Amino acid sequence: ALRPATLSRSLFSAQQSRFASSLVYLEHKGGKLNDSSLSAVTAAKKVDGNAAGILVGSKSDVDSVLSEAKKIEGLSKIYTASSDAYANTLAENVAPLLASFLPEKGITHFFGAHTAVGKNVFPRLAGALDSSMIADIVALEGEDTFTRPIYAGNAILKIKSSPKDKIKIVTVRTTAFDKAAIGSGAAEVEEVKEVSGDSTTKYISEELTVSSRPDLSSAPRVVSGGRALKSQESFSSVLDPLADALGAAVGASRAAVDAGYADNSLQVGQTGKVVAPELYMAIGISGAIQHLAGMKESKMIVAINKDADAPIFQIADVGLVADLFNAVPELVTQVENA
Ligand code: FAD
Repeated sequence: ALRPATLSRSLFSAQQSRFASSLVYLEHKGGKLNDSSLSAVTAAKKVDGNAAGILVGSKSDVDSVLSEAKKIEGLSKIYTASSDAYANTLAENVAPLLASFLPEKGITHFFGAHTAVGKNVFPRLAGALDSSMIADIVALEGEDTFTRPIYAGNAILKIKSSPKDKIKIVTVRTTAFDKAAIGSGAAEVEEVKEVSGDSTTKYISEELTVSSRPDLSSAPRVVSGGRALKSQESFSSVLDPLADALGAAVGASRAAVDAGYADNSLQVGQTGKVVAPELYMAIGISGAIQHLAGMKESKMIVAINKDADAPIFQIADVGLVADLFNAVPELVTQVENA
């Protein structure tokens, strides 16, 4: 609920944080907490050092995620809202619940990850609360001032939320914030009553791409291929052995996706996923700004391209000018024998 932040606890000025109360939307899937929410917790804690979380879903999902959620470092309280209507996170049902709950509890900041769920639920909620949506932030500069990338990451925009927006509705670029630890915390739990949503929208079905590889968004290593891979068959036959040898996720440029070499879910970039792994390998990718927007924060970038002037070499930490069809199999042998 509404609680004053003390001077010592506030990360911003005491005057700004007098009545801050942050809440984090804890996303989950298949009874497991989504790691991206842990980055949203870290962002939320920057407002006044503390936050609460909310779990929304079917009763069985909420029950199975709750014990893990209670242990998240820095969350003092977990609200739970369970109902069959929330089972598939339909924004049409979840947003009315939040629009009623947030003002009731005196929440001033509502954070979530900038994922498909965040992009779906949060704007609808912002509309319902007549508040401006603050999307995809990479930093907080005060409790009402945020920064976010624009123009495919070529410029950084500083946004100051209007004082008339009593609740800041914020999604967080997960690669910009460390994940909050799952510790030994024991947050208290409070149930939230169901609020009826939009009965005209129904969940029908969902088709998921199943992969035995690590999840692209959170994998520590990513091997990405571009148009140069030439076909779906060679995309797999060249990149899979390298990904297997490195225990990496596979990504792709939009050109590779558009040509049908790789699935849509593998696209990295402005209109794909944003990743920041320890190791990103760009293989046969030219380095267009729209691709860089999705991977340039990677810790170590390795590029293999036969054109020494390819723009990818401008941001690569390690570059190899070579034909990928020779270089990649050789690299696989070296990694396997290392
Ligand atoms: P190319 O640019 O064709 O590059 C292929 C590279 O492979 C070249 O550098 C070439 O030298 C090299 N090569 C060729 N043969 C070999 C070989 N045998 N061995 C080694 N190297 C070889 N792109 C994205 O990736 N993600 C996005 O999210 C995205 N969003 C976009 C959004 C908008 C609004 C627009 C307009 C574009 C977007 N794009 C995006 C597209 C982007 O502009 C580029 O067209 C795309 O990234 C190019 O993909 P590529 O590097 O695989 O292909």
